[in-house]
Parts: sequence; C-alpha cells; structure tokens
Amino acid sequence: MANTPHGGILKDLLARDEAIHHALKEESLTLADIVLSERQLCDLELIINGGFSPLEGFMNQRDYDSVVDTLRLADRTLFPIPVTLDVSLDDIGRLSLAIGKRVTLRDPRDDQALAIITIDDIYKPDRVKEATKVLGADDPAHPSVVYLRTKVKEFYVGGRVSAIQTPSYFDHIPLRYTPTELRTHFKKLTWKKVVAFQTRNPMHRAHRELTIRAARQHQANILIHPVCGLTKPGDVDHYTRVRVYKAIMDKYPNGMAHLALLPLAMRMAGPREAVWHAIIRKNYGATHFIVGRDHAGPGKNSQGEDFYGPYDAQELVSKHRDELQITMVPFQQMTYVPSTDEYMPVDEVPKGVQTLDISGTELRRRLKTGAPIPDWFSYDAVVKTLRESYPPRLKQGLVIFLTGLYNSGADTIARALQTVFNEQGGRSVSLLLGESIDRDLKPDYLLSREQHHNHLQRVAFVASELARAGAAVIASTVAPHEAGRQAVRETITHQAGPGGNFFLIHVATPIEYCEKTDRRGVYARARKGIIKGFTGVGEEFDPPKDANLVVDFTRQSIPEIVHSIVLLLETTGLL
Ligand code: ADP
Repeated sequence: MANTPHGGILKDLLARDEAIHHALKEESLTLADIVLSERQLCDLELIINGGFSPLEGFMNQRDYDSVVDTLRLADRTLFPIPVTLDVSLDDIGRLSLAIGKRVTLRDPRDDQALAIITIDDIYKPDRVKEATKVLGADDPAHPSVVYLRTKVKEFYVGGRVSAIQTPSYFDHIPLRYTPTELRTHFKKLTWKKVVAFQTRNPMHRAHRELTIRAARQHQANILIHPVCGLTKPGDVDHYTRVRVYKAIMDKYPNGMAHLALLPLAMRMAGPREAVWHAIIRKNYGATHFIVGRDHAGPGKNSQGEDFYGPYDAQELVSKHRDELQITMVPFQQMTYVPSTDEYMPVDEVPKGVQTLDISGTELRRRLKTGAPIPDWFSYDAVVKTLRESYPPRLKQGLVIFLTGLYNSGADTIARALQTVFNEQGGRSVSLLLGESIDRDLKPDYLLSREQHHNHLQRVAFVASELARAGAAVIASTVAPHEAGRQAVRETITHQAGPGGNFFLIHVATPIEYCEKTDRRGVYARARKGIIKGFTGVGEEFDPPKDANLVVDFTRQSIPEIVHSIVLLLETTGLL
C-alpha cells in the first residue's frame, strides 16, 4: 500500500519484496493452473497493479451480488462493475477447485504465472440479472451481453490474489505505467492537478479542444489515457490508435499533456462504466476526469434506440461525486463553429450560429471511399495514419472464391480473372488452385471428408492473410459442403480486417458437361468405382445458398463470366 497526496490509498499488490515474488513463483509451479481469457488477463493486471483499488482479488458472491444490486462492494465501497473469474463446471472438476485451494493464474499468451488466487467462494451467477442490472438490458445488441451469453462460463470463483508479476508486453513499453509509476511520474513533473481523458477511439481536433478546455477550466495538466485492453468489437485497433495519439501529442503545447496506455477490458456499460473509469483514473493519480457525451456507450439496442441517454453517465458520476475523490469535468457534445474556426460545447454555441460535425459513420465512409477529410475535423498526420490502416476500397485486399464440380470451368475462370487483375495493376494477385497448392491434391487422390475440410480451411487462412496484406486472391476449389464454405467465409471476413472482402462464386456448370469434357477421365474412373466418394458421382455437391454470383460455363463464355465478376467488384467499389 502507498499513500500519495492525491489519488487516495492504492492497493499495489506488486509493491512487495523480490523474495516474496520469488517464493510465490516457486509455489506456482506446484499448483493447478487456470489459463486466463483475454478479459480476465486485463482484469487481473488492474487488480494486481492497483488500477482496480480497493479490489485485491476477483469478487466473491457477497461482493458480486452487492455490486450488481447497489454498485457497491459488500463493505459499501463504491465499485460499480463486477470483476469476476469465470470457470466451467469441467474446470471445477478437472482442477478440483474448492474453497481454500490456491491456484496459479497464467497469461494465455506466454503461459507465465502472474498470480496465485486463494479461492474463498465458488458460485453460479445469474447472468441475465447481471446483464439487466449492470448493462441496463439483456439485449444481444449490447456487446457485453453477447460476451456474457457466449464467452462467460457458468461459475465464478472469488478470492484474493497474490501477485507474482504483471503481464509482459512487447509493444509500446514506454507508454505502459502502473498506477504507482504514473503517480511517481506526475510527482516528478510536479503536476498537482491532472485531468484524465478516457478514449477508445482515434482522437481528432474536437478531442484536443475538449481536453485543453478542461485543463484551462481547472488549471490542470492533461493525461491522455486511452484503453488498449479490450474495447468494443470492430473498434480501430490499438496499434493504429496509438500512432494517432502520438501524432496528437505533438499538437499540445510542450509539457502540457502526457500519454499513457490503460490495459482495461471495457464493458461498454455507459453510466456505470463512467463511475468505474473515474475510480480507475483516481487510482492512476488523476485529480479530474472528463465525461463527455455518451461516455462508454455501446450504440443502439435491438429497437434501434441508444442504450443510454447521452448524459446519463454524467448524472451517475455526479450522484457519487462526494465519495469519488476525483472531480468530473462534464462536457456536452463538442461541435465545430466555422464562422470562428473553433470548437465549442453545443450548449455554449449562440442561437442561430452554424455548426459542423462529422459522425463516426461518416468518417468511416470517407475513409472507405477515400473522400476528403477536412482540416477543421482532424490533423493531416492523424488522417494519414488512419488512411494507412484503413485504405480505401480501391486499395483493399479481396478474395474471390470459386466453388463448383471438378472440371466445371472454375479453374479456367480463375486464370482468366488473374490476367484481368494483372492488367489492371495496383494489387498483387494470388491464384490459389487446388493442385498448385498441394501436389497431392489430384482429383483421384482419396481424401477423407475431414481432410478435405482441413485443406479448405488452410486455403481460407492463406487467402485471408494475403487479402489482409492487400492482395487480390482468386481461389478455386470444389468445396462441396455448406459447413466448409461457411467456415471459409467466417475466416476471411473476420480475420482479414479491412481486406475482408469475400465473394463466393458458384460455377454451376451441369455435371453432364463437366463429365463430357473431362479429358483426364476422372469421372469415368469414379463411375467405375475406381475412385470412391467423388463429388458429383459418389457424393453430393450442396449448391451454396449465399453465392454472390452463380455462373454456368454452358450458358456464358469465359469473357462474359469474367465481366460479370468485374461488374460485381466495381459495384462494391473494389475496382
Ligand atoms: P468512449 O466513451 O467509449 O471511451 P470515445 O473514445 O469516443 O468513447 O470518447 C471518449 C470520451 O470523450 C468520452 O467521455 C466521450 O463522452 C467524450 N467525447 C468524445 N467525442 C466527444 C464530442 N464530440 N463531444 C463531447 N464529448 C466527446
């Protein structure tokens, strides 16, 4: 524990003798282990470094129930978000989890022992109640409800933790501070008042103006404290954001602001989350905390309405101001006033004065199309960084996946498309044909259904990696089963990031034609039973229901088919 002039008492579980850490590390080798999920890892880091003070472990049922119902721990200390360690029934049996047992908590990325938990409770939470009370609704449009329903295991384990070490990082090490380190840093800078700015998004001019106004109002310095643990799915990745934040730091007068990263797993819980953020920033040594419009809001619910009112977060923080030990700096929506070329909170804009805003959706549209982003909205360095990570569609990677029977013409179409892309230029082009990827993949080489599926998924993985790097990938495989094709679509659209453009083309040439023109006699061997389970003869081809285009070699010429694919890509802005 360490006391400082501001920030209150900090439960820094790392502030211990080296010998104790060493002894714990030795002990950790003798215990059962829980390998943490990404969220649990973020939570544990903030428990052990004091970011979640006064927590000293994962919540037991008394604290959990009390937090869910009243925003307070069982001892009535304000703490609005449950911090829990979820395990499955299988984990309980396999690890013989029981009260009093000590278990090692390991980092999922490198298996390092980070802490030892002494279990004081194992309980089954009511996840619907948790969603309703903490998030405001058990609505699957809320990302944390999806998380609760699909990721959270059915039991929670409570107990104090003994810290061994913080998780190791290889990125942005100079920007990572524990609360103790950040408090020390402020002391060194002789900063007495520090206004913290929470963010999970790229920062633009509005945010610089907002933070400077807050600093001016309170004669404070500024802590830019972005979340780099887990944010809302689909947010801009933290590498891109940190490049943006570094660019923004140059726009502050020298010595006014400091950038530090927060390894928090956000819950997008709006008002409760704002109170939580305030407590966390207090622990990191800030004296003031900005809460603007729709703080930590998850967007729209299933009825198309915002989950929380735009200023609900400010109201809840304000309600608890006497016990927060950090002062909220509330702001209404910051908006641009062109006549004076400045940003102002909407409530300060005189009546009748024109204002301008660019919404997040509009910004994403401009990045996608390459449309200009004006100087009044952002800075060149920020826009350049965003454009590098989010290239316009003309520069994005894409995957064209041709599926159809053996000898349906899919490979010929693939080769023709390759020449079109080569001629167009601008992207590297990769052609993934079955036999060119794997020499063993001759049509009459017998693979089990599972081997076929695995081959297909390897092709999808390679295609997604190439597309992520901006290539035009043309893949042609038989892919006769819906499940396999769905898995391909998932891999490519989810893993390839902005290059996750996936087009499924069904080459629906009738089998009679495929068979008649089969110069290698593969169908004939299949008919004679020499090849068994051959698609179209011994095994069905399920026609895809979600093809972006269906073409047929007997009805269309190759140039016509290629042209129809080119038109499809042009419509989506990729050509
Ligand atoms: P989150 O609130 O989920 O972290 P952001 O990173 O977009 O999302 O916002 C960070 C903080 O800045 C929040 O307090 C939010 O209310 C505030 N904020 C962001 N944009 C504006 C704006 N244009 N006007 C006022 N406040 C804003």
